[in-house]
Amino acid sequence: MTGPGASSPPHASDAPIATLFGAARRVAVLLPVPVEAPYDYAVPPEMEPVAPGDIVRVPLGKRIEPGVVWGEGAADVPETKLRPILERLDVPPMPSALRKLVDWCAAYTLAPAGQVLRMALSVPEALDPPKPRTGYTARVADLSETALRATDARKKVLEAARAWPPAEPPPSAADLARRAGVGAAVVRGLAEGGALAPVPVVEDPEIAAPDPRRAGPALSPDQARAADALRAAAKAGFSVTLLEGVTGSGKTEVYFEAVAETLAQGRQVLVLLPEIALTARWPERFRARFGALPAPWHSDLPRAQRRDIWRAVAFGRVPVVVGARSALFLPFPDLGLIIIDEEHDGAFKQEDGVPYNARDMAVVRGRAGGAPVVLASATPSLETVLNARAGRYAHVPLPRRHGGAALPTIKTVDLRAHPPEKWQRQGLPAPSYLAPPLLDAMDTTLKRREQVLLFLNRRGYAPLTLCRACGHRLHCPNCSAWLVEHRHRRMLQCHHCGYHAPLPETCPSCGAADALAACGPGVERVAEEVAARFPTARLVVAASDTLLGPAAAADLMERIEQGAVDIVIGTQVMAKGHHFPLLTLVGVVDADLGLSGGDLRAAERTFQLLHQVSGRAGRAERPGRVLMQTVEPDHPVMRALVAGDAETFLSVEAETRQVVGMPPFGRLVALIVSGLDERAVIDAGKALARGAPRAPDVEVLGPAPAPLAVLRRQHRHRLLLKAARSVRVQPLVRDWLAAVKLPPGVRVKVDVDPYGFL
Ligand code: ADP
Ligand code: ZN
Repeated sequence: MTGPGASSPPHASDAPIATLFGAARRVAVLLPVPVEAPYDYAVPPEMEPVAPGDIVRVPLGKRIEPGVVWGEGAADVPETKLRPILERLDVPPMPSALRKLVDWCAAYTLAPAGQVLRMALSVPEALDPPKPRTGYTARVADLSETALRATDARKKVLEAARAWPPAEPPPSAADLARRAGVGAAVVRGLAEGGALAPVPVVEDPEIAAPDPRRAGPALSPDQARAADALRAAAKAGFSVTLLEGVTGSGKTEVYFEAVAETLAQGRQVLVLLPEIALTARWPERFRARFGALPAPWHSDLPRAQRRDIWRAVAFGRVPVVVGARSALFLPFPDLGLIIIDEEHDGAFKQEDGVPYNARDMAVVRGRAGGAPVVLASATPSLETVLNARAGRYAHVPLPRRHGGAALPTIKTVDLRAHPPEKWQRQGLPAPSYLAPPLLDAMDTTLKRREQVLLFLNRRGYAPLTLCRACGHRLHCPNCSAWLVEHRHRRMLQCHHCGYHAPLPETCPSCGAADALAACGPGVERVAEEVAARFPTARLVVAASDTLLGPAAAADLMERIEQGAVDIVIGTQVMAKGHHFPLLTLVGVVDADLGLSGGDLRAAERTFQLLHQVSGRAGRAERPGRVLMQTVEPDHPVMRALVAGDAETFLSVEAETRQVVGMPPFGRLVALIVSGLDERAVIDAGKALARGAPRAPDVEVLGPAPAPLAVLRRQHRHRLLLKAARSVRVQPLVRDWLAAVKLPPGVRVKVDVDPYGFL
């Protein structure tokens, strides 16, 4: 989608709820369960005033659920059936901008509103006050006032309790015992004897406050101009700005200026990063600039921390959150700025649950709450570029690398002209994945004591294992996908469902021994070849499954930065924003990898990814170079990368899509029909095709088996609705699905603006 639409949400309203004369007042309450609309509940008079946004508990069937007051009751439930709100919770009301986002997101993605609300109430325990701990205060001045015998230990504890600074929260038994130098049992004994009073203590977790007045680095004239533009935007309410600059141009430093401006106004800031766990160094940069860490938000955080942060955000005590896409649904009461870093990244599109694009929904959230939105990227998405060209988004360019660092020179290595030469593995010739020109360049780079990054976006050892005797290919029992060998763990793994099994000794089909052969390279296999060819180099494999957690990732990045590694063999986790001063050569092992497959954005994504990887090379004094191994050096993507010409590439890409009416010039909605029974799935697909909407400028393709025809044992067929931009597809799809009766056990998933086409 291009920018937020104007459809007004059905229920979000801050108007006071009218009191119905004589009858119990009723309000609509949205529950975080898969319901399309809010339910009516009666408001007990003693609970008034109850207003939209209030978070309450209500009965639902036999359960009790939290919910959010969404607006006035619809009055279509008979008075006698109306159940009362049980409790209004002691948390700030859900901000109206967030309620609007929930409505908007539900209407746009066709997900049930309650399911979207669930993302905004993702930590239900955060709705209750934290459980108090027990603290102890002195109740008497002297032990003689009690029946307790005055031992030394007791006297010390009582003294410590009396001397505890009143400004600090009362100490726990352990704190007090430690201060007095005795065991905690003494403290409890004093409490039982009446010398100490136990008191419940609720402590707010510490939230560090970033300091916007700290000076940032001296900005170059380009950067200063960009920073001025962003500061001005940060003062002026809702707008969308594309901050476009090559890698290393200082986009982060520049948008930090907008963050400083917003913090100085006392408002909250949200920064979304793709794959937050892998960009572990970002919080450190933030701390270097503002003197305190931002609050993190992503699904890997411990639950207790999520609860604390959710509450602190809701109470307005968190100035800055840096998070994954789900952070967009946090209840910021005063959000003053949203930054989407690497806005082009596909990770902002959620594929499971509610399929929404956080980049697009950020614009909706910004508009609903009057907050400016900054989209930062070196390779902005076609959608965003077109919005900027059309003037819907402001455009702030940063044309040069900071500090005069040159952009790397990019060349292709034509694998047809320079085929890789076999090497000896345990006395036998082994296939090579590195062509002579790349090996030469690696050699010279290492001799200069500089670093090499070999990029291959494929985890594991080999993407396919087959039997040389019978041709059997090892595939997942649950999916139509090959099993990927992970040699260092001696495992075969399905990258789609997580199935794994030990590597078999014999072919499971014909029983032949020693006949299983790995086909094609993954990062582990390239590492094996590199280790043999450069035996003294220190090498490391960096992939999402070798970096266990953000801390490990940050640690590795630091080691690379400090020069403790010579060669990094990495997947896309190495593509993002890291800065390695000694890294001067990037070798792309298979530049063609992302171009195959029927993905609408294949060329665009390959361009973005390879551009981003290239940006890792040569940042400071040492110029960098990039060698891309390809069999298609004349492909427009390769030509654009070599020429450094994103503009032309995007124009050609735009033209191609315009001709065929593909996004962003047309609209797509994917329907994925799935179920355990293949026959039922096929029939359901056909029934959907028969009931497809017939309207001008609307076309329905399929059903056809999905490329991933079986996933987790579910058979999958796809239909694709393609429409002109002017068509409002949501009502069409809604009516379509409502009219087709699906057999039991068959599900249809709707994906508006699909990114994945598997
Ligand atoms: P981008 O986000 O565009 O890739 P960064 O903001 O990460 O660029 O900047 C690249 C590197 O240059 C970082 O190490 C950053 O600290 C440094 N840098 C950028 N601008 C300045 C500046 N004005 N003064 C000092 N260092 C800077
Ligand atoms: Zn599988």
